Amino acid sequence: MRYFFLLSLLLLTAGCTNDSSEAANTGVLIKNARIFDGSGSEPFQADVLINHDQIALIGTYNGPEPALIIDATGLALAPGFIDLHAHGDPFGEDSDFVNFITQGVTTICLGMDGFSAEDVTGWMRRITSDALSVNVVPFIGHSTIRKLSGTGYTEFPVPRQIEAMQDLLSNALDLGYFGLTTGLEYSPGGLACNEELEALALVVSEHEKIIMSHIRNEDDDVIETSLKELINLGKFCPVHVSHIKVVYGKGARRAQEILSLIDSARQSGITITADIYPYTASYTGIGIVFPEWAKAPNNYGKVKASRRKELEEYLINKVMQRNGPGATLLGTGPWKGMTLADAAKVHSVSFTDLLIDDIGPDGASAAYFIMDEALQAELMKDPFIAIASDGSSTMNHPRGFGSFAKTIRKYVREDSLFSLQQAVYKMTGLPAGILGLKDRGLIKAGYKADLVLFDPGLVNDNATYDNPHLTATGFRFVFLNGELIINDGNSVKGKKSGRLLIH
Ligand SMILES: [Zn+2]
Repeated sequence: MRYFFLLSLLLLTAGCTNDSSEAANTGVLIKNARIFDGSGSEPFQADVLINHDQIALIGTYNGPEPALIIDATGLALAPGFIDLHAHGDPFGEDSDFVNFITQGVTTICLGMDGFSAEDVTGWMRRITSDALSVNVVPFIGHSTIRKLSGTGYTEFPVPRQIEAMQDLLSNALDLGYFGLTTGLEYSPGGLACNEELEALALVVSEHEKIIMSHIRNEDDDVIETSLKELINLGKFCPVHVSHIKVVYGKGARRAQEILSLIDSARQSGITITADIYPYTASYTGIGIVFPEWAKAPNNYGKVKASRRKELEEYLINKVMQRNGPGATLLGTGPWKGMTLADAAKVHSVSFTDLLIDDIGPDGASAAYFIMDEALQAELMKDPFIAIASDGSSTMNHPRGFGSFAKTIRKYVREDSLFSLQQAVYKMTGLPAGILGLKDRGLIKAGYKADLVLFDPGLVNDNATYDNPHLTATGFRFVFLNGELIINDGNSVKGKKSGRLLIH
């Protein structure tokens, strides 16, 4: 019925304005595409008609000539990819998000790892009125709420502070934020104890939303404990593990142990999912190798003067556990592009001295080669784990420019880890389901026309650790809310048809 109605509407529109100018015709017809509809099912051949911002028809089109016809013979058509964990500023220099749209991403989640804009209402107002290059799904950050509520670095918040955090969270969720993110490996989020997290989970549950978490510690020896902490919150609301990884764990067997812990939580009725990026190096601030007691709110200068020996020992242990200073690739400052080992050599100091005296806990960001390919690939295969980037256009890590392309190039085409329809599902239908998006993530009549047309044999991630800002190739056409934003492989300058999505 719906197909018929939309089609008649189109015919009617075309009939009413019966002159021969281009403006008379509406719609875009994509002919002969192989359709990967985002559900994970087998691809099929069909035409797709876009009318305004919607998918109007899937099948065979016999109507009047539309404004644009794309012959998609040999190409795959998928829903625009949805990135569950992205970084970037829609008002900043990188607001064209070329790194994402050139790999077919049309929707990104922001406010990750516990950090979101502090002007909760103002940001929402501004982003609604601004033109956006992608669709943005907003999350509210737990560390941000801690700060706004005056809780800050308090280790044991009093009931009044917990209530203030609950109120702030409740207001944000009322505004349309999709859920809460936590970053328990960062400060001040990591100060939260179970009581605080449960109090916030209760609010998330009342609003029927989700918690996405950068869990407390991803190290091999404690990852189960960290996951159980999140699973416990699953008693209240759906929970999601951000960028799932096992730091310095090894082998597919280890991945299966982790997955069986998550599966058994699911068996017991908890809604739990995860996302993953297809690289074995992480990327974050160098503070990740420093102890809590050397970081804010503690005074680093004082720590350095009074506990230097202890700090040295801690850093040696931590860095060696993480595969040594040669496996830490500095991404910022004068050391950009050098490993910690090389940078120390250049300065003729030990890597600990360089860390303590020249870099400090806030002094750099780096890529850390701390994951195992076999383990991460096994996680990636899991049907409840979506592909995400954890990337941005500025960080010196290839994941911001290559995650989705690499998944297709390496894990589908070269390694046959999963089929293309499964990969597309992990980038579209699965994340849309996790977020509760009702009209995106599938190719379905009436759904929004976020679409990507690509050549599965030619898709390439070009970004590398040495050259992390090279855009992906092989994505020929990308539509965002019905507007063409990538045309024959080139981004259409100044086209901003993205929207703020609210829940
Ligand atoms: Zn994170």
